[in-house]
Amino acid sequence: MTARANVKEVMKEYLLDLDQAAQDGRRKVAWCTSVGPAEILRAAGYEVFFPENHGALLGATRMSMDTIPVANAAGYSPDICSYLTSDVGAWMKGITPLTQAYGIKSVPKPDLLVYNTNQCKDVMHWFEFYARELKVPIYGVHSPNHLPEVTAAHEDAVVAQLKGLIALTEQLTGKRFDEEAFRQSLALSKQATDLWAEVLATARARPSPLSFFDATIYMGPIVVLRGTEVARDYYVAQLAELKAKIAAGEAAVPGETKRLYWDGMPVWGRLRSLSDLFKRNHTAVVASTYCNSWIFSDFDAADPLRTMARAYLKIFINRNDAYKERYIADTVREFGIDGVVFLEAKTCPNNSNSQYNLPARLRAKGVRSVVVNGDLCDLRCFSDEQAATVLEAFLETL
Ligand code: SF4
Repeated sequence: MTARANVKEVMKEYLLDLDQAAQDGRRKVAWCTSVGPAEILRAAGYEVFFPENHGALLGATRMSMDTIPVANAAGYSPDICSYLTSDVGAWMKGITPLTQAYGIKSVPKPDLLVYNTNQCKDVMHWFEFYARELKVPIYGVHSPNHLPEVTAAHEDAVVAQLKGLIALTEQLTGKRFDEEAFRQSLALSKQATDLWAEVLATARARPSPLSFFDATIYMGPIVVLRGTEVARDYYVAQLAELKAKIAAGEAAVPGETKRLYWDGMPVWGRLRSLSDLFKRNHTAVVASTYCNSWIFSDFDAADPLRTMARAYLKIFINRNDAYKERYIADTVREFGIDGVVFLEAKTCPNNSNSQYNLPARLRAKGVRSVVVNGDLCDLRCFSDEQAATVLEAFLETL
């Protein structure tokens, strides 16, 4: 079985199990943001669902084009996060891509909603919609944002809020929080995230066995199954497969001549066509901000709360531009990259890094780049022709 087939199976089992949990009511379900404190929720006995993953599915299936206008009509602006508008619109319309893919009628109803503003504030508005709609408890971790460095004071602020979350889960479940289960969950998360980092690092090989477009599929388990053995075991298998490809000289892009970094969100509804465009041009996209965002090297089960607070504060999106500049320049050097593509997503300024002169500062360091306009889920903001023209012209200059 290939890693791709395997990841599909892992995601299918995860979603069917969540559906079962929501149906039979014996296990509680929490909804969590993609870089939220999932390990605490698992230790407290919740199954965890990630609306952003649902947003990505809506984008990838292009169902978002039917659901975004529904949310827009209800007063959610076309300019805000299109994961939010795709997902809220799907809820309002009573549809989900899970039906076609797995026979699941509806997303699993939550018993608790937990968000972390370490990525943006849209997640707060998003989860507040469901708190009002479904009348379920909501808890927000309000992180210090856009940090040059992560200090003990920043960590203290988050640790206090994580303790508040633990107290809430005790109140809701009527059970004392299991510290040992938390350590175990964080230890499993650490193993999985380290393996994920190794998976992404295989793209340093020439030719690369892995492209950004493969990685957007392979990343599913590190987003939705952190803190479980399933995620860890999946990445053990995937890493072995990629190492075997390196040994065999098998390339993600046959005849690879150029290597790129992708900054910003994927255009979920155009993964295939963009992947094909780069393949035609013998170009491998070998590293990305997006996929790297689930590397949490600081997790340490010996000090779970503090290291969890640290790791979730240190993510790229939550840092200042000087950090981002260093990070991209370092990655470009380490992966032997020829140029950077900045995806300027119309509905996610939080994950669009070309707007404050970063490309020019990188150019001064010898890093060439191009800006492509588009969006994660709203294809009204993406032109295939324009993207192809801009990208192919850029590739010719490299
Ligand atoms: S970071 Fe961007 S894509 Fe992600 S939830 Fe926030 S606004 Fe949406």
